[in-house]
Amino acid sequence: MSKGRIGNRAVVLGGSLGGILAARVLADFYAEVLVVDRDQVLGVSEPRRSTPHTIHAHALHARGHQVLEELFPGLTDGLVAAGIPTCDLAEMHWYLNARRLRAAHTGLLSVMAPRPVLEAHLRASVAALPNVTFLERHSILGVVASADRGRITGVRVAPGDGEDDLLLTADLVVDCTGRGSRTPVWLEELGYRRPEETTVKIGLAYTTRHYRPYPGMLDGIPSINQIAGPSHPRGAFFGKIGPDLVNLSLTGVLGDHPPTDPDAFLDFVRSLPVPQIYETVREAEPVNDPVSFRFPASVRRHYEKLTRFPERYLVLGDAVCSFNPVYGQGMSVAAMQAMALRDRLRLGVTPDAGEFFTEVSRIMTRRGRSPSAGTWTSPA
Ligand SMILES: Cc1cc2nc3c(=O)[nH]c(=O)nc-3n(C[C@H](O)[C@H](O)[C@H](O)COP(=O)(O)OP(=O)(O)OC[C@H]3O[C@@H](n4cnc5c(N)ncnc54)[C@H](O)[C@@H]3O)c2cc1C
Repeated sequence: MSKGRIGNRAVVLGGSLGGILAARVLADFYAEVLVVDRDQVLGVSEPRRSTPHTIHAHALHARGHQVLEELFPGLTDGLVAAGIPTCDLAEMHWYLNARRLRAAHTGLLSVMAPRPVLEAHLRASVAALPNVTFLERHSILGVVASADRGRITGVRVAPGDGEDDLLLTADLVVDCTGRGSRTPVWLEELGYRRPEETTVKIGLAYTTRHYRPYPGMLDGIPSINQIAGPSHPRGAFFGKIGPDLVNLSLTGVLGDHPPTDPDAFLDFVRSLPVPQIYETVREAEPVNDPVSFRFPASVRRHYEKLTRFPERYLVLGDAVCSFNPVYGQGMSVAAMQAMALRDRLRLGVTPDAGEFFTEVSRIMTRRGRSPSAGTWTSPA
């Protein structure tokens, strides 16, 4: 399994999408990879308590799909065999500013799996690697540093059952705990600066309900997507996500939030600028009640701007940046970050945080390759 051992143990904080991808690439370079999550994650293919956003529409778009297929060969075939729909991106019916974009063939594949199902497929593959272990139902309390605070040496975790805290020693720690990441606080406690944050307020909420498909429903259309934006603040993602399941995620920006009351939910559907969604869904049988998730702002933490950062510590996924979800970027960006981590690991030494965050920044801004980071120092 090891392609050139860099260290004995890497600890990944968070066992969701970012954590799974980090564990997959780390497993080729560390003797042992330990993934810690506060939830039970193995064998789970439903939304979890700590990831309520995962019930809502989650399309995996082309770049993310390409990376996942590279890291998990055969993934797409496995998902398709399980009844997960896939299609060319531009075969979906896309509406921007209430106007339909022309259908086309782009060669860019999108995968419309329920997010917990996608996660379960990936996690099962990673958990099957002989050197990867999941430590479930353990809360991460904080990181532990060397005496001079220049290097992260481990993580403190608490079991959910009231047992004593544990110290997990590590040669590398990767924070993949999502948007609520505590790394900025931990950095400050260790005498480093917090990263600057860029926040873009969008006042977004998703409200989602699932339906049983009826014969002829959607008539071969993979999905109908009206993108919410300032001119038309109400949107929807409506399409099949499994052999016997249709997803309708309503979206509203600038505080125009879709309600959870079933009648008010249908009224919101009727008010959309794309009448086909209401006409298609009104006769369908719901399988659950509508559920809501608020996303007040996109948040980016500029780790690439810090000039001091502890060694043997990285941050990846939504912990670095959580994008406006209506553009369907988050999973693909996490996948590209995982590949950036793999590139650094292939150099055969512990990844340099400055270089890694510079590359992560480049991925997110899609600019040309940034100049390499300056010399990073630890607080002496
Ligand atoms: C409504 C919505 C719709 C979206 N739609 C799309 C889409 O269509 N396409 C797309 O590509 N992206 C989409 N995204 C973005 C995508 O969900 C995220 O980019 C992705 O979840 C990031 O994964 P992550 O592993 O970084 O974080 P998360 O999925 O948030 O996972 C964090 C993990 O860390 C664990 N954790 C956190 N704190 C602790 C702690 N203290 N102790 C132990 N464990 C802890 C949690 O249990 C969880 O498992 C959407 C997001 C939202 C909110």
